[in-house]
Parts: sequence; C-alpha cells; structure tokens
Amino acid sequence: SDHSLTYPKSPVDMDWASLYPAYAVKKPTEEEKEKEADASHDPTKEEQRTAKAITKDVEIADIGCGFGGLLFALAPKFPDTPMLGMEIRTSVTDYVVDKIRALRSQHAPTQSYQNISCLRANTMKFLPNFFTRHQLRAIFLCFPDPHFKQRKHKARIVSYTLNSEYAYALRPGGVVYTITDVKDLHEWMVGHFEAHLSFERVGEEELEGEGEVATCVGIMKMETEEGKKVTRNGGEKFVAVFRRVVDPPWP
Ligand code: SAM
Repeated sequence: SDHSLTYPKSPVDMDWASLYPAYAVKKPTEEEKEKEADASHDPTKEEQRTAKAITKDVEIADIGCGFGGLLFALAPKFPDTPMLGMEIRTSVTDYVVDKIRALRSQHAPTQSYQNISCLRANTMKFLPNFFTRHQLRAIFLCFPDPHFKQRKHKARIVSYTLNSEYAYALRPGGVVYTITDVKDLHEWMVGHFEAHLSFERVGEEELEGEGEVATCVGIMKMETEEGKKVTRNGGEKFVAVFRRVVDPPWP
C-alpha cells in the first residue's frame, strides 16, 4: 500500500544523484567548502543539497512504465535527456532497476543508459512531489490500466484533476503521449484532455512526420511490452497526443 511508499517532501529533497550517478553534481572540494563556510549561508545545508542534485533535470516521465520497454528504447534516442519510469508494483520496479544497472555496466565505456532510471511511486498521488512546475518536456501514458467498470473510472490515470497535475509538470509546448488498445479508454482520454484548457490535440501530420513527436509515437507503439503484445494478438492501437499550451488568461 501507499504507506510503504517513500517519496520526497518536494522535488529539491529528492536524491536524484543516486538515480543518475553520471549526472551527479560534483561534491565541493575542501577549498570550495572553506570558501562556502566564509559565506553567509549555511554550508552544511548547501552541501546536502548539491549531494543529491543532478546537472540536468529529468525531462521525460513514463507513468506506469511496467517492465520499462519504452525507457530502454528511448535511452539511445535521447542520450542527453534524463528520463524516469514510475511504477507502482515493487517487483516490476525492481526488475527495471536491475536491468538498468546491468545495461549501464555492459555499456560502461560509452556511458549509455545513464540517462534512464526507475522508481516506485503512485503517480496518482505524488507526482508534484517529484517534479517542479514546467520541468517536463514529455509524459508517456502507455497502455494504462483500463478500469472498465463505471465505478472504477476514478482509478483511471487520466481525469480532469490529474490532467491539471500533468499540465503543472509539463512546460508549455511539452507533450503528453497516450496509447491504449481499449477504445472506450481512448475516447475517455481524448475527451478529458480535449476538455482541459491547458491541452490541445496534436494533429495526425505531426504524428506521422519526422520530428520528435513522430519518433516517440513510433517507439511507444512498437517497444512497450503492451504494444508488442497487442501486435502479436493482431489488436488495434489507439494513439492520441496532446500539447501543453500556454495557460489561458483568467476570465
Ligand atoms: N506502460 C507499460 C506498457 O505499455 O507496456 C505498462 C502498461 S501496464 C498495463 C500498466 C502499468 O501501470 C502497470 O505496470 C501498473 O502497475 C502501473 N500503474 C497502475 N497504476 C499506477 C499508479 N498509480 N502509479 C504508478 N504506476 C501505476
């Protein structure tokens, strides 16, 4: 249950350096520490903060990442972008973390896979604890659990409230990618994002073009575990992508 979940009080309290050691802000040298001690602020606090920080913030989040297929495929496509998978099941999270560790050591000479990481989280509750306003360039919602029954709809990871959290974490121009094989859920996601003032739907042309959006759509269709399963079973995949617009002025 959520009682056993650990999460930071706020994004600055998060120990990002342990997730992305290659991006860790270097600890100050003795000389730098002395200089800091002379300055007016509290050096111990400053040192603690830098010990956890990374040089480039996470820009892409895969919500409900499952076994991490999307992350493993995105890692070499955007080698300088820190990306985070978030998954509620402990054993699944452990699997992804172990696989990342193995890939990092296999690819140590090239430093590949240093840009992906995974943690256990209930993103329906704690997303703003991890990300600051406008931090993210993309959020993936790939094959979310459909929760078919009407009374279970509140468990869906797309809702007006949660969409406001996604809008908070995404920068203007940032993108939410959705994919599912459940038509009803697809229509639900489209309805909720289209009705939200911070999002507009991205057109077909861009999804099939040459840019980052088209690349991401291709990967999410082919490289997620669920996407592969649907291909094997000859099922249909429904894709919808939304761009975070600049907030409209208050009426
Ligand atoms: N995205 C992966 C894919 O496309 O292959 C996995 C899809 S799987 C059907 C949905 C995943 O979302 C499961 O691994 C589940 O444990 C996870 N999940 C469900 N609710 C969640 C929540 N509130 N926070 C984080 N992960 C969640």
